[in-house]
Amino acid sequence: MPRRGHPSGAGVLVTTDVVIVGASAGGLTVAEGLRRRGFTGSVTLVDADPELPYDRPPLSKQVLDGRWPAERARLRDPDELDSLELDLRLGCPAVSLDAPGHRLTLLDGRVLRYRTLVLATGLVARGLPGQERLAGVHTLRTLTDSELLRAELESARRVVVVGAGVLGCEIAATARGLGREVTVVEPAAQPMERLLGPELGAEVARLHAERGVRLLTSTQVRGLVGEAGRVVGVRTGSGAVLPADVVVVAVGGRPATDWLTGSGLVLDDGVVCDERCRAAEDVYAVGDVARFGAGAGSGAGAGEHGVRLENRTNATDQGLFVAADILGARAAYRPVPYVWSDQFQVRVQVYGTVPEGPSAVRIVQGSLHSRKFVAHVATDGRLVAVVGWNSPGGTRTARALLTSRHPVPHAP
Ligand SMILES: Cc1cc2nc3c(=O)[nH]c(=O)nc-3n(C[C@H](O)[C@H](O)[C@H](O)COP(=O)(O)OP(=O)(O)OC[C@H]3O[C@@H](n4cnc5c(N)ncnc54)[C@H](O)[C@@H]3O)c2cc1C
Repeated sequence: MPRRGHPSGAGVLVTTDVVIVGASAGGLTVAEGLRRRGFTGSVTLVDADPELPYDRPPLSKQVLDGRWPAERARLRDPDELDSLELDLRLGCPAVSLDAPGHRLTLLDGRVLRYRTLVLATGLVARGLPGQERLAGVHTLRTLTDSELLRAELESARRVVVVGAGVLGCEIAATARGLGREVTVVEPAAQPMERLLGPELGAEVARLHAERGVRLLTSTQVRGLVGEAGRVVGVRTGSGAVLPADVVVVAVGGRPATDWLTGSGLVLDDGVVCDERCRAAEDVYAVGDVARFGAGAGSGAGAGEHGVRLENRTNATDQGLFVAADILGARAAYRPVPYVWSDQFQVRVQVYGTVPEGPSAVRIVQGSLHSRKFVAHVATDGRLVAVVGWNSPGGTRTARALLTSRHPVPHAP
């Protein structure tokens, strides 16, 4: 059984070949990637969360609606973790880093001296700024968050979701599937607009409207309304109050880097790293926390400031990439971004990046009417994204066009 607790180790100095901070999709993949490539050195994997490593996508879907017990969201079973021969320190946050000195300090006072460090700390859910704490208000990032929300959804009648990004839409779909009255409030004109653009975002709006979700787009939230310490409503920009038994704030996350202040690393909405995902000598970053390719103009839309991808596939791909780089491979990390989302039995998939500005959308397979299609999104005649709606096969095939050097015949 992997080690889950740890005696207090204040002041103890431990030397490890590789230390990985964050034992979720990105961090665990680095550990596995190292072992798979035959690395026999010592690997320490630490995480603030006391749970065995688990996956996050089911937390807004199968775990939240009760189809899966929490254990089913585990990334690996205990035997598989054992076979990796890790020093697994769960429930043990890293609190400071001295990058030039190669030293990491944990909350229990233990100091880990490493040869190589990997930062895979992901995101922290954002709340509503300046809002007093009220019972019945939730964010969703961890397994505990999902279980607490699920418990409250059991007795709630009216649920208000603040934010119609991917996560907000998934939570709304799940709550609606459980029979709750669901209202979603979103300042943008369409749900999931940042991921899909306005035209395809309108399809998400249609899906939710058909299933009985009340969607208030182009609507600001002014604050929450509480009574006796519990939320009773959400006040919109117009002053109207939307009654709520439960409110879910799904307004995105910020990189979990507060503890890295003063570490010597460059922090700018993530850990800034080069196209090999190196943040400093012997320090890498992977997954949601990593802003990679800075200054290199590498793929995935990276410019001077690099790019940070918040999706499950990137966490694994980047984890494998970094494991290889630690062991001597030399390449630039240039992924094709990929996000999927499941809502009301619809799978939406996006390869590439839909730009913020104007773009042209063309349905190249199926139709909006049939609720099964593949769309090309282009800017300046160049294909920049492929969006699939209940069409996994066609979407995967179209992905190849994004990396092709040849002109795309159907580019809008
Ligand atoms: C509810 C939900 C549903 C999602 N659904 C989808 C989906 O359908 N499709 C998709 O593509 N993506 C989805 N995502 C996004 C996807 O799960 C993330 O992109 C992925 O989890 C990123 O992995 P990561 O390892 O980089 O970070 P995380 O999974 O966030 O893991 C970071 C880990 O670091 C730990 N940590 C943080 N700070 C410290 C510290 N100081 N010391 C020690 N440990 C620390 C945390 O406890 C955490 O375990 C979803 C995310 C959420 C929250």
